[in-house]
Amino acid sequence: MKSVHSPLHAGHAGQTELVAGRILPGFERPERAEFVRAAVERAGLGPILEPTPQTLDVARRVHRPDYVDFLRQAWDLWVTAGNDGPALPFVWPTRGLRDDLRPEKISALLGFYAFDGGSAFVAGTWGAIESSYACALTAADIVAAGERAAFALARPPGHHAGRRTAGGYCYLNNAACAAERLRDRGAKRVAVLDVDFHHGNGTQEIFWTRADVAVVNLHGDPATEYPYFLGAADEIGAGPGEGYNLNLPMPPGTDWAVWSEALERGCRHIAEVGAEALVVSLGVDTYEGDPISHFRLKTADYPAIGARIARLGLPTVFVLEGGYAVAAIGDNVTGVLTGFECA
Ligand SMILES: [Zn+2]
Repeated sequence: MKSVHSPLHAGHAGQTELVAGRILPGFERPERAEFVRAAVERAGLGPILEPTPQTLDVARRVHRPDYVDFLRQAWDLWVTAGNDGPALPFVWPTRGLRDDLRPEKISALLGFYAFDGGSAFVAGTWGAIESSYACALTAADIVAAGERAAFALARPPGHHAGRRTAGGYCYLNNAACAAERLRDRGAKRVAVLDVDFHHGNGTQEIFWTRADVAVVNLHGDPATEYPYFLGAADEIGAGPGEGYNLNLPMPPGTDWAVWSEALERGCRHIAEVGAEALVVSLGVDTYEGDPISHFRLKTADYPAIGARIARLGLPTVFVLEGGYAVAAIGDNVTGVLTGFECA
């Protein structure tokens, strides 16, 4: 299996986040991708390619064009306004406020285009976002050209990013963009299977009313887990998309016995809707040692995830999402990928 990876991800470093009342270094850091890259090499998965340069055309369809423009300009606007530290929002147009008034100041735009304070901008952030997106589209193109699977070793992650909102370490929704690209390349229906611990709220929002992209999420119950405000079992899509969104929330402490049943249910749904291609939002923060998540999967469980996905028999694009136990993230990711390859 080919992997697609860009060194530009490393420019997105030194960002901060608000954790339990303190501004701390972000959990989403460059070592994550470096550990995965090293594990891919160790496992002999296949060649690691640089992404092909991409236009922002797909991003502008998946997201609102003004949001994509904001992402490109955010750091420059922040510096021009006299700031030098990481750019973080502090005010959001939530209930009771207007979200149709686009403000002018960068400090307000940061909140206008975010749903939380988890996606800071530093000098190298846009370069990393663009390269991560290019990794996802390049991997989709490899699969559309006939290969069984490809892996976008992409950073920053994307599944929390909505139509016009950053959040949860995410900016452009790489998995959604890969799904859109597979549609462009001829797949009549694509499924996104999100196995990250956290609900992929952005992917759900983006495809909520669409029948041509089905979205399946296995995740921590939003009653107790981030992102809290989306991901319940009664969210099934709307309009033409009704019935194409499947949420399978699970309680803290969920282990392989329960989680693998949800995977089985999710895979059956993907087969039933007649997907012709698959995008896997591959987060491994379901791991028992993850510092910010609460499932109990073991490193030995990950190959079985890949093997079950392989049994769908679909052209498959794997896109890296979360996973914060950096010492184990590489083996857990390559466990899924080699499990898929060997099946
Ligand atoms: Zn996650």
